Amino acid sequence: MKASKIILFVIAGFALIFSFLFFLGSGGQSGGFNLIYIAVGLAAVAFILIFFATRLDISADPAQNVTVNIDLPGEVSMDAIKCESCGGVLTEKDIKLVSGAPMVTCPFCSTTYQLSEEPKW
Ligand SMILES: [Zn+2]
Repeated sequence: MKASKIILFVIAGFALIFSFLFFLGSGGQSGGFNLIYIAVGLAAVAFILIFFATRLDISADPAQNVTVNIDLPGEVSMDAIKCESCGGVLTEKDIKLVSGAPMVTCPFCSTTYQLSEEPKW
């Protein structure tokens, strides 16, 4: 529930309460004719506010429900070996075997680290 909507409902509630008070006041007074107009006017304002408050809710809903679904095939990210530090694409030239362990030297950020062999699922 949005704050602007709550404010609209609160103002509408006050308008309805004052409308009711003016309506009650109009009965006992000689000049009650004008008070009835004020009461009806406040009631109309209250219903307009409620109308806009409900419309506000409807117009806000589609924007909140926008979801972006990006479905990429799993192979895309597996095609290239990327640097763990800068994300640069590494080639076979950057991988060297040092004492049996594949070491990667990134040509972009000069980071050297051991290439961890992840299990193939
Ligand atoms: Zn790098």
